[in-house]
Amino acid sequence: MSNKKIIIAIDGFSSTGKSTIAKQLAKKLNYIYVDTGAMYRAVTLYAMQNKIITNNTFDPQSLISALPHIKLLFKFNSELGFAEMYLNDSNVEKEIRTIEVSKLVSKVSEVPQVRKKLVQEQQAMGKERGIVMDGRDIGTVVFPDAELKLFMTASADKRATRRYKELINRGDEVNYEEILHNVQERDHIDSTRKDSPLKKADDAVQFDNSDMGLTEQFERIMRLVNDRL
Ligand code: C5P
Repeated sequence: MSNKKIIIAIDGFSSTGKSTIAKQLAKKLNYIYVDTGAMYRAVTLYAMQNKIITNNTFDPQSLISALPHIKLLFKFNSELGFAEMYLNDSNVEKEIRTIEVSKLVSKVSEVPQVRKKLVQEQQAMGKERGIVMDGRDIGTVVFPDAELKLFMTASADKRATRRYKELINRGDEVNYEEILHNVQERDHIDSTRKDSPLKKADDAVQFDNSDMGLTEQFERIMRLVNDRL
């Protein structure tokens, strides 16, 4: 393998296994992995904690004013093998993955000023390249010059089943219908919003992993990586 370092941008719908493949690639290549969804989730958690957003109210202007007070940081946890999300110096890795945050995150992610702040932070993290980043707008907006762009899809049912198992394994009380509804609703808001909607970049390689095993997917993607290197 050459010493050249590249940027790998992974976009796609909710629960398409973006973070699983991103973590595998980062480990294999010794690259940094950045889960941009965690950043949008942390901003949402802040908005919830400060009553800026509730299940039926949202004051985007208050959130915009609060943005300078929202400090996000990824800290690598060597035991887990990935970086955890810190919001104003508190580890929020567990709280940001709850269904309550999932229900509100797409509304917060529509606010252009929120996107601008997070995109700037993401671009700074990729300055040295050698990074795998996953999200919704990585190949289109954050790193339009990424050497490798992947776009992940899978059937709604497969995606909801994956997310359901993940939450149940963590001990959360959720039902399948609620998860399916959330996955579909987020995909709709994410792909129809005005500012940087979720869409496949023209030069992205699409993977439908509804029926593809993790090993096969990883091997196929590693071949694409090696071509770029
Ligand atoms: O990746 P994850 O499902 O954790 O992302 C949560 C939400 O954050 C998405 O549904 C989307 O609304 C928002 N998001 C975004 N842009 C990104 C990453 C996530 O708008 N780059």
